[in-house]
Amino acid sequence: MAERSLTLMAVHAHPDDEATSTGGVLARYAAEGITTVLVTCTDGRCGDGPGGVKPGDPGHDPAAVVAMRQAELEASCASLKVTHLETLGYADSGMMGWPTNTLPGAFWTTPVDEAAERLADLIRQYRPDVVVTYDENGFYGHPDHIQAHRITMAAVAKTDIPAKVYWTTVPRTAFAEFGRIMRELGVEWDEPDASSPEPQLELGLPDDEISTWVDTTSYSGQKYDALAAHASQTENIFFLQLGRDRFAELMGMETFVRVRDTTGASLPEDDLFAGLR
Ligand SMILES: [Zn+2]
Repeated sequence: MAERSLTLMAVHAHPDDEATSTGGVLARYAAEGITTVLVTCTDGRCGDGPGGVKPGDPGHDPAAVVAMRQAELEASCASLKVTHLETLGYADSGMMGWPTNTLPGAFWTTPVDEAAERLADLIRQYRPDVVVTYDENGFYGHPDHIQAHRITMAAVAKTDIPAKVYWTTVPRTAFAEFGRIMRELGVEWDEPDASSPEPQLELGLPDDEISTWVDTTSYSGQKYDALAAHASQTENIFFLQLGRDRFAELMGMETFVRVRDTTGASLPEDDLFAGLR
């Protein structure tokens, strides 16, 4: 009987999220012969348009943004050697409170069960051993990230297929270091929590609450290229301004919280596939 390769599925909200928080693991596990599946839930229409036009400004054409971001997503996947890219095609809902939250087709107002059933079909098709998505706050409160979390957890419950499920996170110590370097480089850096709908909410986790630390430093070049493929989105420019060496230093360690496990692998662990190979 042919042995089936181990499979990683990452579920993300927008084109570019795959690069920011999971570019390292996607590149590393592909290089280790693991099948990688990226599911991108929305079309990113609320992102910056060609020429840096902001959503809501004159000349921001959602159809043009969607086409551009799809091409960028494909280029990013090529850098990360993603085996299969699946797009669910929901409309980007924009930031919390934007009128785009409730437009027809917006991911945020799509019933969780409906979108979860589509994702469950992909889980039945690819049978991922490991699934990665965001925490219940979508890491920083973006409605599409919260919705991606909800449909992923619902699809995992429906299928009972993945042996391990993880939520992406960032150690608070890394945030502090990142802020320090951005100030040192003189980069105007919008502290991410400034845009959070709940200002009291602290982003990321204390180091001792992080279960899984995956060193992807050797793949930082691919991760940098994947982010560069999405350079039309202003927030990515911050990361690119670090330059490749600093980027590898700061963005090489990807961290997760394990929320489902049927393998019994002990914690903390340094491999999403610990207990599976
Ligand atoms: Zn996003």
